[in-house]
Amino acid sequence: MRGVYLPGGRRIELREVPDPVPGPGQVVVDVRASTICGSDLRAIYREHLGEGPEAYQDVVGGHEPSGQVVAVGPDVERIRVGDRVVVYHISGCGQCDECRRGYQISCTSPRRRAYGWQRDGGHAEALLAEERDLLVLPDTLTFLDGACVACGFATAYEALCRVALAGGEQVLVTGLGPVGLAVGMLASAMGSPWVVGTDPSPERRALARDLGAVDVAVEGDEDELVDLLGDGAEVSVDCAGVGAAQLTALRHTRRHGRCALVGEGATLTVDVSAVLIHRQLTVHGSWVAPTWRMAELLERLARWDLHPERVVTDRFALDDAARAYEVADAGRGGKVGIVRA
Ligand SMILES: [Zn+2]
Ligand SMILES: [Zn+2]
Repeated sequence: MRGVYLPGGRRIELREVPDPVPGPGQVVVDVRASTICGSDLRAIYREHLGEGPEAYQDVVGGHEPSGQVVAVGPDVERIRVGDRVVVYHISGCGQCDECRRGYQISCTSPRRRAYGWQRDGGHAEALLAEERDLLVLPDTLTFLDGACVACGFATAYEALCRVALAGGEQVLVTGLGPVGLAVGMLASAMGSPWVVGTDPSPERRALARDLGAVDVAVEGDEDELVDLLGDGAEVSVDCAGVGAAQLTALRHTRRHGRCALVGEGATLTVDVSAVLIHRQLTVHGSWVAPTWRMAELLERLARWDLHPERVVTDRFALDDAARAYEVADAGRGGKVGIVRA
């Protein structure tokens, strides 16, 4: 079969690789959708920047896969051939405290392997996965919905749960890339009547408005946000991963409000007394989501009839992976997916 490798320097290599064979506790997933994440671009595609859990080890790329199980190995008990599944993108040791909490993302065992980073990921025709890393996709959700949940939507949902968003509260989202769009869509579904988004890109603001992911999208200067949010949003979520946007999120969180930092990769300088202490803020660092939360989200999405694939603006076949990465890297649209009909 064919698989996509990411050797760095914005290059893509489509290589012929052996068909996976499931060992004990493993399954083979016929990959139907595999979306591209901001972290694939930041830490692998442009240059191999990652270390530790983000070190890319020359494997098939893609950590947001969804597909159908076509083979199961010995001792597989829960998953059956034919099941439609989402692959949780980290395979942890299964034994440590973080793994037992469902935060395989934070597992520090040498046995931890992330799909698309240290073990083969979803940019291929098939994927070898551990049974314990699979979540069953509800019938009413598409494979592309599933791929969007595997990382981005689950990350957004976890952040909104961490800050305990309650119905009726205003939400500010800074950064309207795919995760910011997910935060906006989920915040509305969870009962927020007023979601304000900020992004420097006019294309991204227009897309967020067109999708109905936010009620209003602005560049984010001080006066605009005071007009739109008054004393501030009870809840803010930064998805930009840029110091200026993180500061915007904090400064426009209402007194006693909650802010989640989700966007990665920045250094933030903040006047602690004026912005945080005197305004009684609670700030959460929120990294991906535990498996149980991802399962909860899949059930809720089906209940809400909310389809994450709406944030996918560009779809490509596996053969066109190079083009898919170019479009994702340009950062003008929404999510980019590699899909099979
Ligand atoms: Zn991701
Ligand atoms: Zn572990």
